[in-house]
Amino acid sequence: MHEYGVALEIVRMATEAAEGRPITKVTLAVGDLSGVFSESLIMYGDLLFHDAQPSRDVLIAVNRVKAAFRCSCGVTYSPPDIFDSCPQCRGVDRTIVDGNQCIIESIEVDDE
Ligand SMILES: [Zn+2]
Repeated sequence: MHEYGVALEIVRMATEAAEGRPITKVTLAVGDLSGVFSESLIMYGDLLFHDAQPSRDVLIAVNRVKAAFRCSCGVTYSPPDIFDSCPQCRGVDRTIVDGNQCIIESIEVDDE
């Protein structure tokens, strides 16, 4: 359900940025910590873009962004599992430096 709202916002922003030109492709960056399921996002995005511009298909591409943390010991790391502790000190006192985004990276439009 969460993905529906996110997809709605993405379609709204992409449509606004396209300024009336038909959108052909939208590339998203979805972080592993964003809590967004790419598959659901693409499914809702397909539906909503189809409603917004029925005459043209929009290709939705998703670039996954791995989680990255900075530990209180100073190390920045990108663990295979997001619950893994710091590889240097085994600590869990950390801040997120990457991987919590769900944003539009780029849109492509038909300029004809
Ligand atoms: Zn550490």
